[in-house]
Amino acid sequence: MKRQAEKNRILLVEDEEQLLSLTEALLDERGYQVSTAQTGQSALEALECSTFDLVILDLNLPDRDGLEVLSKFREGNQVPVIIVSARTDGKDRIDAFDRGADDYLTKPFLPKELLARMNVCLRRNPPAKPKKSGEFFKIDDESQRLTLGGTQVELTSREFSLLQALATEPG
Ligand code: CA
Repeated sequence: MKRQAEKNRILLVEDEEQLLSLTEALLDERGYQVSTAQTGQSALEALECSTFDLVILDLNLPDRDGLEVLSKFREGNQVPVIIVSARTDGKDRIDAFDRGADDYLTKPFLPKELLARMNVCLRRNPPAKPKKSGEFFKIDDESQRLTLGGTQVELTSREFSLLQALATEPG
């Protein structure tokens, strides 16, 4: 399962202890780098301080509704979000998608299904750029050279164009 050298960073938001630790162990075993949050507030704080490639979000949280947390996420962040919830009501599902969820999985779910859906989301979305990447990453348009942490990297012109496109992508 470890397709990439860089581990995908996952934020797992779940208030039920047992489910949280089981899911965390499952993802850890599959080579993901997992951070956890048990409240909506701590999830928002985690997202503020770090960059994640994917968020798994429970809807019934002790402090605030997961849908409200999702809307907050979306104010300034395009990180993919998979909702995992016991709520089976169609209204909640539609509401979740309207607020920017990428997928919706109903509890109880098969661990394999969660992993498969995570893979789809991660394939669709290129890995998030780490914060402060600007200091580490320098692109010289004229010489078509990339400097990575002080070391020069030779690139083909196609690689360079791709890199340039990625670097100038909004956000
Ligand atoms: Ca819950």
